[in-house]
Amino acid sequence: MEKVLVTGATGFIASHLILQLIERGYEVRGTARSTDKAARLNEILSDYAGKPVAIEIVAADLSKDEGWAEAVKGVSYVQHVASPFPAETPKSADELIIPARDGALRVLKAAKAEGVKRVVMTSSMAAIGYGWGDKRPDTLSEVHWSNADNLNDNTAYARSKTIAEKAAWDYVTGEGAGLELAVINPVAVLGPAMSKDVSSSLQLVSQPLEGKLPAFPKLSFGIIDVRDVARAHIEAMVRPEAVGERFICGGDVLWMDEMGEVLRNAFPDRKIPKGTLPNWLVRLFAQLNPPLKQVLPELGKKRGYTNEKLKTVLGIEPIPADEAIIASAKSLIEVGAV
Ligand code: NDP
Repeated sequence: MEKVLVTGATGFIASHLILQLIERGYEVRGTARSTDKAARLNEILSDYAGKPVAIEIVAADLSKDEGWAEAVKGVSYVQHVASPFPAETPKSADELIIPARDGALRVLKAAKAEGVKRVVMTSSMAAIGYGWGDKRPDTLSEVHWSNADNLNDNTAYARSKTIAEKAAWDYVTGEGAGLELAVINPVAVLGPAMSKDVSSSLQLVSQPLEGKLPAFPKLSFGIIDVRDVARAHIEAMVRPEAVGERFICGGDVLWMDEMGEVLRNAFPDRKIPKGTLPNWLVRLFAQLNPPLKQVLPELGKKRGYTNEKLKTVLGIEPIPADEAIIASAKSLIEVGAV
């Protein structure tokens, strides 16, 4: 049985990835910042899977050297999923950039030293579609890179993902040559949450469900179901043609009010907002609702991209956005998050 290390095992994407890896016959080890989280994580995974799951957890923090050599010991593959993804903008962008970049390098160096076959890294659409200003191509693809230096059309999080992914490619084409790398660049990830402690991306569904917004900001999001994201990570790990490639992992692009319509139709008993807020009001509102600050550069813009590589190289036909939205909502209600 081949062993796979999944970093940031407690996270939304990682949890689904762990279960799919187990389903496909791999033995899984995870990392978390503290092993105290292991028992609860295995409980959550077991509940969701409907059968006992007991993965080993090794303590490792992206900001520290300790733990990474032990984490990769004896594994054939590494799925590097961990990266800071806070709901709020940090005081300093370095709070995200340094752990994202240096953590990725710690993981890659440990993998190289251990003779790991391949590392799959979770980057983001944030490493492709930001910092373009008015010059953003209508259809983004894997050849495009965000400009992390353009602070006017960027967020600290987007910059952290761009800088970390660049550092990873630089490493495997330089000092770390010989180590195989494939990168997954998801858009906004929705789909079933396993616990109340949900990823920031699920706020796209939890906020309207809780009636927290008076109407929707004029924001659009590419949407992908977490189950597709997990599958993409596994396909990128096993398919020879995925080596050295990045993959936009995205499906339909919806305006937030279109997402609201899906929710209104599926949950008629809930008070889901309707209509679009003027941009000036969203900017004002963001002062009181910090998660919104991160998306201000995106107001009024529709992000186009191609997911051809996801379909043709990894063989994934994305779950429709409305299914992903409804699955998120049902799970958030079930786990008592909303
Ligand atoms: P979660 O917040 O659920 O997971 C993030 C994980 O990263 C957690 O397990 C967290 O561990 C870990 N982590 C954060 N900081 C550190 C650190 N300093 N050291 C070690 N581990 C750390 O988010 P997602 O599952 O949604 O995100 C997973 C990955 O996917 C991230 O790389 C994110 O950037 C990327 N991504 C997510 C998208 C989305 O829409 N959800 C879209 C595109 C990319 P802990 O439990 O200790 O906090």
